[in-house]
Amino acid sequence: MILFNDQLIQREEARVDIEDRGYQFGDGVYEVVSVYEGKIFRLEEHLQRFQYSAGQIGIELPMSLDVLTTNLNKLLEANQLVNGQIYFQVTRGYAPRNHPFPARPNPVLTGYVTRKPRPLELMQTGVKAITLDDIRWLRCDIKSLNLLGSVLAKQKAVEQGAFEALLHRNGIVTEGSSTNLFIIKDGKMQTHPLGNLILGGITRIVILELAEQLNMPVIEESFNLQELYAADEVFVSSTTSEVMPIILIDGKQVGSGSVGPLTRKLQKLLEEMVFAHQEKVQ
Ligand code: PMP
Repeated sequence: MILFNDQLIQREEARVDIEDRGYQFGDGVYEVVSVYEGKIFRLEEHLQRFQYSAGQIGIELPMSLDVLTTNLNKLLEANQLVNGQIYFQVTRGYAPRNHPFPARPNPVLTGYVTRKPRPLELMQTGVKAITLDDIRWLRCDIKSLNLLGSVLAKQKAVEQGAFEALLHRNGIVTEGSSTNLFIIKDGKMQTHPLGNLILGGITRIVILELAEQLNMPVIEESFNLQELYAADEVFVSSTTSEVMPIILIDGKQVGSGSVGPLTRKLQKLLEEMVFAHQEKVQ
């Protein structure tokens, strides 16, 4: 079953017009949330960001956040989703193709579940990354359906056997193509400040909370490529990648070339947090 506006229907029954503005212009915004043991992790923050993103491009959500919450929970129950993700998006809907907003937009909200397992092995071993020019637009704070800049960067990374492309503007590092980026040097953690150049990741918020719990100093200031290469530990974060250690950047080892102790500690604390509501299995 999928969510289509406020109805749960079969995927095959869903009909989106070929002139839907999401399809033609990428005119919409989206969210990805994780479900752990049947519960959506940090849904409130994801919904706030969804409303923010929609608001920034002048889309009025077709239902209240309370109704959306109910519908997302119905969606995961209908699909008996215990561990996995929910993807949902809203577009400005159908209108005869023309750049300006239609006078009476009819937004279309869709959502469905996926069952990708947590990337436990990669989280254990660490992954490779490359650096690339950040060619994305200047409103990266909006979780827009327009993902070409990210798609092209991720494709380059994959072609080079890397997990992620770390993006920079004239040497100032922003974030990964689909992740936020953190470096640790001399026990201090640093990440790009919020603003129009990065997406305000929900996992980023959680990591900043965990760092505070650990009494780890955090600097929300931008850093450059040299500082990235010279870091003791580097990791990226996202809803699906959680805390993903980077052990090689552009062929150069990060620190000792294996996953660092503070990164491990953050992984463990995040895991404890997501499974906090239930008995630890194992
Ligand atoms: N930055 C970008 C560009 C992203 O696409 C994502 C994930 N969608 C993130 C950061 C991480 O955000 P979150 O932790 O909310 O998944």
